[in-house]
Amino acid sequence: MLKVDVCIVGAGPAGSTLSHFLHKLNIDHLLIDKSDFPRDKICGDGITVDVLNVLKRIDPELLEKFCAESEMLPSWGFCFNGPKGQEIRYDFRDAQIPVAPFYTARRLDLDDFLIRELPENGSGQFWPQTELVGLSRSEGGFIAELKKEGGKESIHCKTIIGAEGEKPVVTRYLGLEHFREKEHLLAAIRIYYKNVQGFNDGDHLEFFFDKDLLPGYFWAFPLTNNEANVGLGMLSTAISAKKINLKKMFDQVIEKNPYIQPMFEGAEALEKTKGWGLPIMTPKRRIAGDAYALIGDAGGMIEAFTGKGIGPGMMSARILSEHLERAFQSNNFDLSPYHDHMYRYYRSEISNTYRLQKSLKHTWILNPVMSLASWSAVTKYAEDKMIRNFLKWV
Ligand SMILES: Cc1cc2nc3c(=O)[nH]c(=O)nc-3n(C[C@H](O)[C@H](O)[C@H](O)COP(=O)(O)OP(=O)(O)OC[C@H]3O[C@@H](n4cnc5c(N)ncnc54)[C@H](O)[C@@H]3O)c2cc1C
Repeated sequence: MLKVDVCIVGAGPAGSTLSHFLHKLNIDHLLIDKSDFPRDKICGDGITVDVLNVLKRIDPELLEKFCAESEMLPSWGFCFNGPKGQEIRYDFRDAQIPVAPFYTARRLDLDDFLIRELPENGSGQFWPQTELVGLSRSEGGFIAELKKEGGKESIHCKTIIGAEGEKPVVTRYLGLEHFREKEHLLAAIRIYYKNVQGFNDGDHLEFFFDKDLLPGYFWAFPLTNNEANVGLGMLSTAISAKKINLKKMFDQVIEKNPYIQPMFEGAEALEKTKGWGLPIMTPKRRIAGDAYALIGDAGGMIEAFTGKGIGPGMMSARILSEHLERAFQSNNFDLSPYHDHMYRYYRSEISNTYRLQKSLKHTWILNPVMSLASWSAVTKYAEDKMIRNFLKWV
């Protein structure tokens, strides 16, 4: 039976990032994914500064390679479009930062890039088309049952890391409570389009808050090849309470919203609507314990306001790698300190984004939030936090 120190279940951005860091730390590991790569993942494809930050932490050359990939589109700003057509737009082109603060990349390309760039002869292996189908505690760790192309195989691992995304697997097999309250879950749909008009020439990420859509929001993000990632997201409690059909609402917004409708004249949908869940951050969710930890969506690492989860997922992997290093040095596999570290790291982001999300409940709250005062708050945030932090690490 194969014996490994760490088994990572799921090779999305969270799992593959952890593999990159374990390679750097020379920690023996196995990364598995039930899919073959490249594979799609329903997402908005918006890449935020924390992704760039983690890529650089893995290796500055990796960040350079990412920026040079032809499928990664630099995006120089963002815009929150209010119900009355008000805009909070920020453009970073004059901020003298060396690379764009945002990118867009189809997940087919981003996730494949992260896998392709894993070292070939390092301390880990990647097994695609390998699904975790059973997990039990055994002496000194776990026995993981894997389903692969030619049959089943069991391996022994000292620690198990759940990076399997939104559908819980590791916690389920371990019989642990899997915290999945509707108030901490968003649902969203995505459709790829061609020929969407009217994007800013800096390829900004556009968010729209339509009065009939609240507390949800609509997004349109430009991609390479004149394509766009378009979607709609909403808190699951609101969907249940108001019995909302997201697809119907999406069609309605495209037909009726006076700011969105012109963008879609002549646009062509490239696929049918696809939906997925987004577990949002809450310290109520336990993400680590005796020889196990959860990263990315498996640990509910999505930011409540914008639905950003790629960056926090990759950041959770970076933070966990420090705790795994310590665990293997000390031979103490209680990974609970990772739980505390993550929620300390994201404490202010969690409270700010939940507060912002509450402002989406009614137009009478949202309209003042979209006022001049907010514009100055956004400007201050962009200049103080983003630009200064950006210059510190790039
Ligand atoms: C509609 C939508 C829009 C979004 N937009 C954005 C956005 O614009 N920007 C952003 O930052 N975030 C966005 N998010 C969130 C983002 O998609 C997730 O946070 C991100 O994918 C999390 O990455 P992950 O590695 O944790 O999980 P995933 O990317 O889901 O990867 C999990 C992997 O685990 C594998 N797996 C599952 N079960 C098993 C098993 N039993 N055995 C082996 N492998 C298994 C899967 O095949 C998969 O490859 C969006 C989400 C949705 C739904």
